[in-house]
Amino acid sequence: MTKKTDGEQLYEKLGYSFKHIAKASHEDIEQAEQFSKGYKAFLDAGKTERECVNYTEKLVKENGYTEFDKNAHYKEFDKVYYNNRGKNIVLITFGKRPLADGVKFNIAHIDSPRLDLKPNPLYEQDELAYFKTHYYGGIKKYQWGTIPLSMHGVVILKDGTKVELSVGEKDDDPKFIVSDLLPHLSARQNERPLKDGLKGEELNIILGSIPYQDDAVKEPFKLMALSLLNEKYGITEADFMRAEIEMVPSAKASDIGLDRSLIGAYGQDDRVCAYTALMAALSVDKPEYTTVTVMTDKEEIGSEGNTGMASRMLAHLMEDICDMYGVKARDVYRKSTCLSSDVNAAYDPTFPDVFEKQNSSFLNHGPVLTKYTGSRGKGGSNDASAETMAKVIKYMDDDNVIWQIGELGKVDEGGGGTIALFMGDMDVDTVDLGVPVLAMHSPFEVTSKLDVYYTYKAFMAFYK
Ligand code: MN
Ligand code: MN
Repeated sequence: MTKKTDGEQLYEKLGYSFKHIAKASHEDIEQAEQFSKGYKAFLDAGKTERECVNYTEKLVKENGYTEFDKNAHYKEFDKVYYNNRGKNIVLITFGKRPLADGVKFNIAHIDSPRLDLKPNPLYEQDELAYFKTHYYGGIKKYQWGTIPLSMHGVVILKDGTKVELSVGEKDDDPKFIVSDLLPHLSARQNERPLKDGLKGEELNIILGSIPYQDDAVKEPFKLMALSLLNEKYGITEADFMRAEIEMVPSAKASDIGLDRSLIGAYGQDDRVCAYTALMAALSVDKPEYTTVTVMTDKEEIGSEGNTGMASRMLAHLMEDICDMYGVKARDVYRKSTCLSSDVNAAYDPTFPDVFEKQNSSFLNHGPVLTKYTGSRGKGGSNDASAETMAKVIKYMDDDNVIWQIGELGKVDEGGGGTIALFMGDMDVDTVDLGVPVLAMHSPFEVTSKLDVYYTYKAFMAFYK
């Protein structure tokens, strides 16, 4: 080995470069592999926000959490959960320090882009039965044609019974599909701009092709679909108006690449941060500060609604907790820190033009600390302060967590937001931290196992 020149040594001292985990900490590949197994199981079990809540509630109960009771009084290291309407869930571990010292929030979302059924979805056309859909969140619509879909959701029957549906996940389940044109007849469709490759009103789900056996019935194909649904679930057509039914990719989470270093799955934005936050909450069972892990809903459509972070739901819950200890919630918020744990776009070598490489996140470089999101001149962003950045960087550096910085693409190339601004509204120091994702918002998103594992490590460093 040749001796480093003065310049090289000075550069090493003054400059900074981000690390590749596999180079810097090769031995973690096996740990990450083990960790990814539970993550893939979580993804397969939770294709909707409700399923993620059910899975999480069951898991935390097995780990000693009890349902939050506003009339109880909790002591250090007690663990409680609050299930908000079956669509989001908050996990709290009371810390050693008093609430008045502030809490550590970690908030990830468990809703993902998908095709929702319209309230009056069922129809038949030219001897096929269909569901009409209305997409949820930002999707590239053309990606949703000709892939196997499954149907998940709940229906409230007239008598109030809640029926849960899941069709298309088991190997021998039927799947559903949105059709697309064959290339031979796509001359005109090919002239459409990509955003209209498949149009919103073309995202129709094929349900069946055999008619009900009665020539007197006007819509026998629709009736056949209805009768099958009624047989299995007791549903009638009117019940769709009391339902939330989501069509999601039926593919299972799988390893990607010859080296199996990546994970491909639907809904990794942002269940990857939800899972790692959940695991960190379970791992750090004696935290210094009270930890508040939130798995929220509605992020993909702007966090509106009483299961999203624009709602006062979390503020109300915090007030209930603060009342127990005779502290003012606002005094707690001022001293609290929040990780808005959400994914960022991983640099994609096939599409380098939209990225500014020096400020992009890369696969296998660890969780991405995103100072600001938003678009144009940081509009719609929380833009974390230097002090907040310093605080979170210190947690990670002190625990040797490899992490990186990232912006969502080039300036003025596009943009996006997270829940960070809502926590800023609550007067909490907040910054975004999460996993870099390739093909984000597609039916099959890609993450790296090392990044997933290191995000878990970052959350543990934050919590402990
Ligand atoms: Mn997200
Ligand atoms: Mn998203």
